[in-house]
Amino acid sequence: MRLILIGPPGCGKGTQAKLVCKRKKIDHIGTGDLLREAIRNATPVGQKAKPFVETGHLVPDELVNDLIQEKFQDPSHPGDFLLDGYPRTLAQAAALDSILEKLQFSLNAVILFEVADAEIIRRVTGRWSCPKFGCKATYHISSNPPRVPGICDDCLTHLVQRDDDHVETVRARLEVYHRDTVPLIPYYQKKKMLRIVPGEGKIETVYKNIVQALGL
Ligand SMILES: [Zn+2]
Repeated sequence: MRLILIGPPGCGKGTQAKLVCKRKKIDHIGTGDLLREAIRNATPVGQKAKPFVETGHLVPDELVNDLIQEKFQDPSHPGDFLLDGYPRTLAQAAALDSILEKLQFSLNAVILFEVADAEIIRRVTGRWSCPKFGCKATYHISSNPPRVPGICDDCLTHLVQRDDDHVETVRARLEVYHRDTVPLIPYYQKKKMLRIVPGEGKIETVYKNIVQALGL
């Protein structure tokens, strides 16, 4: 199967993507992994992307498209895959269409994770982690609270919130999602590829929703 997984940041799609790929033996293609691989192998796109990554800048859209193209042009490209985190914009979706068209590949489905913004904010901003070097304990105020509020169970260090988990950061990322990625919904709806999957609930419940939506 050739799939795309889209959904808001913090909706748990990364976890589900890995689960689907492992259980259904589909190649997982995440742009972050691809980027690291291209840089490690010093491919033409990897060399262009390297300075962005090294200086902590976002890799421009076109380079991400080139990265995907490089992956699919390689003779060892996967036949079955799940694209996780790509495309994020209409321009990227159009670029992907032309890459796949050249290969005479077609997508089977686009899975859209539906999780309300309020739920995402609740999930992400409830995360606390232990800052002590070597202790990677993480907590969630409602689903996995520490025994003593604000204190790590394992090493008694005061817990902190990562920058990514602050409410302002989460709101800003959701805004980008609504502005840039939500327009993909009608785009894939028109192509009759969209499968909407409720993304709230336990990991196995959501997984079942995906399998059911795909008829796997
Ligand atoms: Zn700790």
